[in-house]
Amino acid sequence: MTFDAVVVGAGVAGCTLARLLAEKGQSLLLLEKRRHIAGQAYDEKDEHGVLVHRYGPHLFHTASRRIVEFLSRFTRWHPYEHRVLGSIDGCLVPLPFNFDSLEALFSPKEALHLEEKLAGAFGEGARISIWELLQTKDERLRELGGYIYEKVFYHYTAKQWGREPEELSPDVLSRVPVVAGRDGRYFTDPFQAMPDGGYTELFNKMIGHPGISLERETSWKERLSFSQGQVFLDGKRYPGDVWFTAPLDELFDFCCGELPYRSLSFDFSHLPTDRFQPVCTVNYPNKEEFTRITEFKHCTGQEVPGTTIAYEYPRSCSLAKGDIPYYPVPGEESARIYEKYSRLADSYKSLFPLGRLAEYKYYNMSQAMEAAFSAAEKIRH
Ligand code: UDP
Repeated sequence: MTFDAVVVGAGVAGCTLARLLAEKGQSLLLLEKRRHIAGQAYDEKDEHGVLVHRYGPHLFHTASRRIVEFLSRFTRWHPYEHRVLGSIDGCLVPLPFNFDSLEALFSPKEALHLEEKLAGAFGEGARISIWELLQTKDERLRELGGYIYEKVFYHYTAKQWGREPEELSPDVLSRVPVVAGRDGRYFTDPFQAMPDGGYTELFNKMIGHPGISLERETSWKERLSFSQGQVFLDGKRYPGDVWFTAPLDELFDFCCGELPYRSLSFDFSHLPTDRFQPVCTVNYPNKEEFTRITEFKHCTGQEVPGTTIAYEYPRSCSLAKGDIPYYPVPGEESARIYEKYSRLADSYKSLFPLGRLAEYKYYNMSQAMEAAFSAAEKIRH
């Protein structure tokens, strides 16, 4: 069988693109190295029947109507707005840090004073980057910025990335703002919900199309090779497109150096109680080795006896050792290395990097899908 295109990786971007291209009439070979699809969004029931996210919490949120419409063809939704608490000085306070967090940690008089200052300087309800707060003109607000930086960001970031916050692109910490108001939602997108039957079921339905041939437990290395601007499939020159969602440095045998990634490990435990903690995710920004504890029943809405939680531990990542890359590490040095790989990829006219790993962008699920939509739009047939 000849395929119009090969998609490497059946994760969020790969599955979305495969479906979009199949609906344009293309026949696709979808290669997945692991035994399962859905990438890091993979979920499954554990031995106690609790639906868990094996690679950490995935909360769906988007501002894109076309993505909601597209996904709604494959799933029904369980409404869920993500709430996070942070364990700070023995208190559980809302994150993003907002007026409620201030009131939990400061005296009523001081909290009120800071609230007025925040709202006055940035506007009622503003979502402020911690970097902006640290540079504000007002001394008391700068002090508050220093306090939040220390209690919420610094140690969490050092654990998560194994780097100083300044070594990362400022956008990383800005993902979690400080709020001059009481909106404690982690995300503000108008659509926030979880797929009713889970992500694996959703992506299975998505790639259930006669134009898509999925091969699991098949690394791209077993089927594809790349040499001097030419792509080979099973040893023969391949004229179709290759959509590549795996790490680009690995594709080119690390010839321009290794791109940094971060990995995670999870410690799951099942408890014979209905609930372990008040919200889906509690962050531990300080001395603990783990960064957060997630209790899945809060977000999935599943009603089963008992509950399963996961402790999340950041890890270094070496592709050569077989570690699973979870995050690109946005920063100047990695951008320079990535640029070289991107130019190499450009020298292959039919090779297209796509998604969080191959584009080396800290995409959330909706952004990875948007990237697939934009890619598919460029294909005429
Ligand atoms: N962050 C932090 N403390 C927190 C939450 C987030 O320092 O309590 C920083 C940290 O650097 C983290 C980044 O903000 O990696 C982005 O957080 P997010 O919750 O978006 O991370 P993800 O869910 O993608 O792992």
